[in-house]
Amino acid sequence: MGEFQPGGHSAGPSGLLRRRSLLAAAAGLAMTGLAACAQEPAAAPVPSPSAPSTPVVKDPPHNAVAPETRPARPSKSQVVAEFSARKPVEWGLDVKGVISKTDSPHAVLTFDACGGPQGSECDQRLLQTLRKLNVPATLFVNGRWISANPGLAAELAADPLFELGNHGFRHQPLSVNGRAAYGIPGTANAGEVYDEIMANQDALERLSGKAPRFFRSGTAYYDDVAAAITNAVGLVPVSFTVNGDGGATFPAATVAAEVGKIAAGRGAGQIVISHFNRPAGGTADGFARALPGLLDRGVTFARLGDTLPL
Ligand SMILES: [Zn+2]
Repeated sequence: MGEFQPGGHSAGPSGLLRRRSLLAAAAGLAMTGLAACAQEPAAAPVPSPSAPSTPVVKDPPHNAVAPETRPARPSKSQVVAEFSARKPVEWGLDVKGVISKTDSPHAVLTFDACGGPQGSECDQRLLQTLRKLNVPATLFVNGRWISANPGLAAELAADPLFELGNHGFRHQPLSVNGRAAYGIPGTANAGEVYDEIMANQDALERLSGKAPRFFRSGTAYYDDVAAAITNAVGLVPVSFTVNGDGGATFPAATVAAEVGKIAAGRGAGQIVISHFNRPAGGTADGFARALPGLLDRGVTFARLGDTLPL
């Protein structure tokens, strides 16, 4: 599934253009699957409106982090040594250390691309709607999706309307003891948690020259130790407030109704989860129906990084 947006294809590290041209060629060979991330949450949690407002930085310095200024991150062996003895006490979508809402006056739309045999397409109509309405979004991209869509991933990374987040390397629930969600086995230990996060982080950095600030696990499930590891390696683990498309299973009318709920409170602090990897689902039509009305009612949107300044 895909997405992207306007403008700004000029910024990038040296060599990016050449790399992108190679990636674009590779994209022609990319396979596309039929389905998507059926494993994402199917039930809509109750939104909890939040109010306070944090002034949003208009055009923040994105995720760009020059290597020389990037904080040293712990090694895998350091993470294993520090966290292997810790026993998790929480498991779910909203455990300690995981962000599910913000203090911003804006709503945040997040769209996942889960990858895998049934989840590696791109919902271009959804992306076109976002671009047409100039609605920014944070796109959580999985390593498998990047492998299937390297040129598209690079295009999205270069689009200033979007911010890329890390959606894991193998799309696993983030656990230190193999706990499963929606039938998908979680990572089995602290070392696997590290690999699930950092293998895709490295892929995204190679792709874009930027270090994503945010991580959402496959299925958005975490235990509290895995969430702590995510924070320890320098990323913010993210869940959601509003389940917009039920893992891209909702029909368009349901998507529009669920997303439309953020009109209450003008969307302040809400984080909406949906998908851009299942164009056959109702997500694109649902957002096309809901967004104009939300904008008319004064809802404003921002990328996650704009609502959580460094
Ligand atoms: Zn996913």
